[in-house]
Amino acid sequence: SDQTELLRSRLEIHVKGDLVPPPILSFSSCNFPQKLLQNIEAAGFEMPTPVQMQAIPAALSGKSLLVSAETGSGKTASFLVPIVYLCANFRFEQFRDRKKPLAMVLTPTRELCIQVEEQAKLLGKGLPFKTALVVGGDAMARQLHRIQQGVELIVGTPGRLIDLLTKNDIQLDDVKIFALDEVDCMFQRGFRDQVMQIFRALSQPQVLLYSATVSQDIENMVSSMAKDVAVVSVGKPNR
Ligand code: ADP
Ligand code: MG
Repeated sequence: SDQTELLRSRLEIHVKGDLVPPPILSFSSCNFPQKLLQNIEAAGFEMPTPVQMQAIPAALSGKSLLVSAETGSGKTASFLVPIVYLCANFRFEQFRDRKKPLAMVLTPTRELCIQVEEQAKLLGKGLPFKTALVVGGDAMARQLHRIQQGVELIVGTPGRLIDLLTKNDIQLDDVKIFALDEVDCMFQRGFRDQVMQIFRALSQPQVLLYSATVSQDIENMVSSMAKDVAVVSVGKPNR
């Protein structure tokens, strides 16, 4: 509607794609469980940032997204909040195999994975939401053991995940949301083929692809992974 257009232009939110829901103006306007709202508040997030205002409802609507916004704009929570929400809901599905993760986040580095997992734990506190790291420099056996106990979210680097996959040690076919953070950086590090290999182990997940800058290569990757992708960018077009 005109109102949505006005709001987006005020917030410098640019959207390409059909049926993308309007931005939310507060976290409480989503039907989140009380625990999740409390965790968001406890994290010090009073109001959603513009990228969160648009990406959160779009992700909750089930759309695959290609999102770009400048560093420091709150992109992490914009994919983690939908992930926590979805995992906490699905956890109760009668036929769900508790041993299989429901969401996966890939990032280019161990340090970034640690930060993302940290924030995921804060947002998922008190909810049926367990996380595991799959990164180098940590005992692989311990990481694997944790996963085999049953976790909702895996946060990892492409290289380490491929190690586990090729050994047939984890089953990723229940993953419903696949988020890729700092994809431009992953491409620079030459992780493109590994990311695609991991994607092929999944069963048509919703894809949330994040990048500071968007190249043709990145657009090609996301359109090879999902149909009907919505493109969200915040701020000045950056490509
Ligand atoms: P990006 O990934 O876009 O570079 P981050 O997700 O790392 O940004 O967030 C940058 C900082 O902003 C972090 O310290 C984070 O805790 C904080 N932050 C994120 N969302 C909000 C919010 N809604 N309100 C206040 N601070 C926020
Ligand atoms: Mg980030």
